[in-house]
Amino acid sequence: MFIVKKINQLISGKILDKKRIHRKFSSRRKKLTEHIRNKGIKDPKVLQAIEQVPRHIFVDTALENHAYEDSALPIGSGQTISQPYTVAVQTELLEVKKGDKILEIGTGSGYQAAILCHMGADVYSVERHEPLYLNARQKLQELGYRPRLKCGDGTLGWSAYAPYDGIIVTAGAPIVPEDLIQQLSVGGKLIVPVGDQEVQTMIRITRVSEDAYEEEQLKEFKFVPLIGEKGWE
Ligand code: SAH
Repeated sequence: MFIVKKINQLISGKILDKKRIHRKFSSRRKKLTEHIRNKGIKDPKVLQAIEQVPRHIFVDTALENHAYEDSALPIGSGQTISQPYTVAVQTELLEVKKGDKILEIGTGSGYQAAILCHMGADVYSVERHEPLYLNARQKLQELGYRPRLKCGDGTLGWSAYAPYDGIIVTAGAPIVPEDLIQQLSVGGKLIVPVGDQEVQTMIRITRVSEDAYEEEQLKEFKFVPLIGEKGWE
């Protein structure tokens, strides 16, 4: 009896913690969502995820006051959590449907992975920096999200679970990594910023059949570099 009571207390404590996390900054999150809508993001599922996922959990507590500004923030290991607008653009381009299998390259803070999980995707994500991988794993678990995470070189994709309905690269690549194209299912989309280290063009590649692809070149952005065998040195 005593143990059952203790377990119940622990569970209700956790639920209360989660409620508290979601209540905190909720009006700032609403404002940020409005701002992103005004910048042209239309997908209601993306806007809802931005409004509901607590971004402040994915940054250092010293920076949480800035978590709902539309800007990138440092997350350690010389990396950044992407600007919320950029996250929204990349996520909208994926056209995520519930149950879609999505691979993310560059877990970083884990925020983008949380957005995708929140939208009902089956998420796989690779990060090359171990401290970031460990931190993201803990934060995502705390919030109850269950993506599959790996520490390694994402320029090679994650062949064990391929093919994917969508692949999103959250670091700037010098060229479109060939392995990623090959890990798309027919109808699948790869969203990848490609360029030099200063500026990159967002590219969407759709696999229209077994051996045909369509490429769209979209807006310019600035990402941290994608480093690895098929990326920057
Ligand atoms: N999606 C992240 C953005 C992090 S910035 C977020 O929501 O916070 C991009 C991340 O890509 C960095 O953490 C960087 O370490 C990682 N990265 C760069 N090259 C990589 C590679 N080859 N494989 C996996 N991760 C990589």
